Amino acid sequence: MEKKLPFTKEQIEKIIEQYPTPFHIYDEKAIRETARKFNLAFKWVPGGYKNYFAVKALPNPHIMKILQEEGMGFDCSSLPELLLAEKVGASGIDIMFTSNNTPYTEYQKAKELGAKINLDDITHIEYLEKHAGIPDFICMRYNPGPLKEGNSIIGKPEEAKYGFTKEQIIEGYKILKQKGAKKFGLHTMVASNELNPEYFADTARLLFTLVGEIKEKAGVDIEFINLGGGIGIPYKPDQKEVDIHLVSGLIRQSYEELIEKKGLYPAKIVTESGRAITGPHGYLITKAIHEKHIYKEYIGVDACMANLMRPGMYGAYHHITVLGKEKNPCDHVYDVVGSLCENNDKFAVDRQLPEIKIGDIIVIHDTGAHGHAMGFNYNGKLRSAELLLKEDGTVKLIRRAETVEDYFSTLDFSSL
Ligand SMILES: *Cc1c(COP(=O)(O)O)cnc(C)c1O
Repeated sequence: MEKKLPFTKEQIEKIIEQYPTPFHIYDEKAIRETARKFNLAFKWVPGGYKNYFAVKALPNPHIMKILQEEGMGFDCSSLPELLLAEKVGASGIDIMFTSNNTPYTEYQKAKELGAKINLDDITHIEYLEKHAGIPDFICMRYNPGPLKEGNSIIGKPEEAKYGFTKEQIIEGYKILKQKGAKKFGLHTMVASNELNPEYFADTARLLFTLVGEIKEKAGVDIEFINLGGGIGIPYKPDQKEVDIHLVSGLIRQSYEELIEKKGLYPAKIVTESGRAITGPHGYLITKAIHEKHIYKEYIGVDACMANLMRPGMYGAYHHITVLGKEKNPCDHVYDVVGSLCENNDKFAVDRQLPEIKIGDIIVIHDTGAHGHAMGFNYNGKLRSAELLLKEDGTVKLIRRAETVEDYFSTLDFSSL
C-alpha cells in the first residue's frame, strides 16, 4: 500500500537544486484543509470551539501564521514558545499556557501576555500568586489516575507526572475563587497518538462529569473545557485516520447529556491538537548516499536521527517512499540508516522496499509534527532546513539549515 504525496519527483528534483537535502517540506494546502475540518466538526458547541495548536509539534512561525489565519490559538509550554506566539501576533486569549514543573519567569511572561494559564499542580496556586499574581482566568489540569486506562505513549495516568488529583482540583477551584479568579477552565490530556475515537469520547465524558461535581462541590462554573491533544495519525499505510466528525459527534452526545440537560454553564470546548493538524503534512526529503552489505543490507541516507528522532526514540514507524519507484516491487529488505554513532539511528528496520540506488530520493512521511522540532545537535549533527510548499505550488524557505557557525555560536574560541 502506498501513501500519497503532494508533489512529483520532478518537482522535488527542482527544489533540491536550490535547497540541498535533507530538508522537511510542509504542505500548506493540506494543513489548511485539516484545520478547517476540525473547526467544522466542532461547530455545534454552544460556547464555541478552538484548537490551540501545540507549538512544540511544529514551532515555526510561518506555520503558526497559517494556523492563526484558520482560527487557531497556540498551546505553549515554555518561554520560547510563548515568545513565538507573541511574535506571530497572537493576543493573550489565543494563547494557552499548559506547562508543568514551571519556572516562575515563565508564569510571569504568560501573565504579562494575558495567556490562559493552566496549572499543573495545587502547590502552583501559591507559587503563581507569589510570583505573578492570580489572573482573572485560570485553568487546571486534571489527572484521572486509575479512573482512566492508559495509552501506550503517555502511559497510565497514575504513573504520569501531570495534573491534580480529583480532591486537589476541587480544592483548587475553591482556593482560586477565594483568591479572586473570575473564570475557570478544566483540562486533561491522557493520550498521545491515539487512533481510537472512543478514547476521546470517554475522556470528554470523564471531564463533563467532573464539571458537574466541581459546580456542586466548589460552586464554580467551568467556562472552558480543554480536552488536550493526543489525536493520532495513521503513520502506517493500513491505519485509518481518526474521523474527527465521529469523535465530535460522540462528544456532543455527552455534552448534551452531562452539561446541557443538567443546566450547567454552556462551556466552550477546546483542544490542543498538534500532531493531527500538521503531522501528516510534512515530509523529510533525503538522499541515499551509501549502500552497505554486511550481515544485513543497509541504505545510508544524508538525514539522521537529529532530523527525525521518533523512529530511534520510540521505534516509531514512518512510511518511506523511494521517489519514482512507487510502482516497483518491494522485493528488497533494508535498514535505512543515518550517520550518528548510535545504532538506533535507523529510519526503518527490515523494511521491504524497492531496490534503492545511490542518489535515489527518499521521502520519509508524516514528519510534520514532532519531527524537526525534536532535533538535536548530538554528534555535531546540524538541523535541516524547513520548506513550505505553498498553495500556488511555489516553495518558500521557512527555516534555513543550520551551519557550523550556528553550532559554534555558543562557544568562545578566543578564550582558549
Ligand atoms: C504534547 C502536548 C500536546 C499535543 O499533543 P499532540 O499529540 O501533538 O496532539 C497538547 N497538550 C499538551 C499539554 C501536550 O503536552
